[in-house]
Amino acid sequence: MMMIGARSPPFRYIFKGNHASASSASTFPKLELNQRTAWQFYKAPFSISKELQSVKKGTISTNISANCHLTLPAFRAIMQKQGGGVAAPLQSLSFAIDFFLCYDGLHSKPRSEGPLISVEKALAEVLSHVQPLSPEPVPVLEAQDRILAEKIVSEIDIPPFDNSAMDGYAVRAVDVSGASSGTPIHLEVVGSVAAGYVTGARVQPGTAIRIMTGAPLPEGADAIVPYEDTSDFDRPKEARLVDPASDIEVRQAVAPRDHVRPAGEDIYRGEVVMVPGRLIRPQEIGVLASLGHQTVLVHRRPRVAILATGDELLEIHEPLAPGKIRNSNEYTNAALVTRSGGIPIRLGIARDAKEHLVAKIRSGLEQAADLFLTSGGVSVGDYDVVKDVLGSEGEMQFWQVNMKPGKPLAFGLLPGNVPLIGLPGNPVSAMVSFEQFARPAILKMLGHTNLAKPTVRAVVDEPLTNSGRRGFIRVVVTRQEDGYHARTTGEQGSGVLTSMAKANGLAIVPEGVHHVQAGTELTVQMLDWPEGTEV
Ligand code: AMP
Ligand code: MG
Repeated sequence: MMMIGARSPPFRYIFKGNHASASSASTFPKLELNQRTAWQFYKAPFSISKELQSVKKGTISTNISANCHLTLPAFRAIMQKQGGGVAAPLQSLSFAIDFFLCYDGLHSKPRSEGPLISVEKALAEVLSHVQPLSPEPVPVLEAQDRILAEKIVSEIDIPPFDNSAMDGYAVRAVDVSGASSGTPIHLEVVGSVAAGYVTGARVQPGTAIRIMTGAPLPEGADAIVPYEDTSDFDRPKEARLVDPASDIEVRQAVAPRDHVRPAGEDIYRGEVVMVPGRLIRPQEIGVLASLGHQTVLVHRRPRVAILATGDELLEIHEPLAPGKIRNSNEYTNAALVTRSGGIPIRLGIARDAKEHLVAKIRSGLEQAADLFLTSGGVSVGDYDVVKDVLGSEGEMQFWQVNMKPGKPLAFGLLPGNVPLIGLPGNPVSAMVSFEQFARPAILKMLGHTNLAKPTVRAVVDEPLTNSGRRGFIRVVVTRQEDGYHARTTGEQGSGVLTSMAKANGLAIVPEGVHHVQAGTELTVQMLDWPEGTEV
């Protein structure tokens, strides 16, 4: 089989259509497809020379020329099936085209729709242009959920001194080695020490010092006998406080170091306690506090400019008007940014007019945005102005990602190498694309290395249909006796935000799968693990 322009392993794409017509061109065969069929064609992950990249009046026409990544034998077979190149409507057409997956679209920045690219490829491309932001010092309590950007080396032992792990008596283990409840050993009490104090008294043979949890181990002692194992235990606490015993019976032997927390047990002086990249949680904050860090270096939180696009959009306080809808994406995106650890900068609505968009983008740049998130205006059929502006303001790529919802996606760099992710306009598509591409980018900027959403494997309790692209199906996951189960939350249209609101996960249907039977186990990306949901 002859392959032209081969770059990566061959793919087989099953092309089905019933409204195609064809005619032969003088040099190369010419294929004309109406828009619906052309769409099928478009979904194929290949680039077919520049001519195919424009949709005019519902028709795509292209010359299948030498730079086409379609195999010529396959194309000839198509022509034959269509009656030797005579233009004629086809009643049913179903054939396979072997071709090479072409990623040219990623690198050559097509002005219009490029090839269908995988979720992984799109994410890798986004992440390759995103780096952890510079470190900044923050008060230790503000470091929560941030990523450490410095090495923490301890200058002290923690605990700084040997101390008691129990309330009881500091003793010499050798003095009480034969003690038991039947053969108690008497010791004279020569002092008392509470947490926060140091005693000048010393434990000599035959003596003990009363000691509280956390108090330094007195000199001469090498073990603690807990109260419970002494005659003190027979007396009420109040009596012990008012009238400390002057001698005690020890009813249990102890070994040297018993109930003693040695200096440096937790952290030793010179120890590397944390390295950069560590997620700071309450326990890390506690460790930092114990080391005396009032501030700590963490990666800066990205400032994320959020821009909604569309003439149809109203601000949420505005009354509805004919043809208009409220701008929900700005709010969803701002909430998602905050939840991911970024700082949203809301730029509001940009109308589908060049000057307006340019002004909004510049305003975001002036506000020192580290990342732009737009919604809308990146799919086929949008006013070209959105793409034109993004294209002219920076280096932009317009992708068709092999996923549903969320196929159209734009990505590029604005002046100053500020990345822009152009999310689709449909509210659910925007959210799903955010989770796949924007959240990992924000996490990487924050310094995270674990960028993936948590997943579970769940059995779907109903059959699912899928487009053949990677499906992200809105589901509710519940835990049952035999493991996790998932059910869809209803209507899966990409504008039906309420079915997203009902979902706690996105079940992933792999590419190429059109039907999922009930009982099949799928990976589910968990959106939430809220308390009390039994997940
Ligand atoms: P677009 O990609 O701009 O063609 O938008 C696709 C769909 O998403 C259209 O139905 C838009 O009205 C809708 N849409 C775009 N932006 C928003 C937004 N900010 N809030 C709610 N819906 C939107
Ligand atoms: Mg729009």
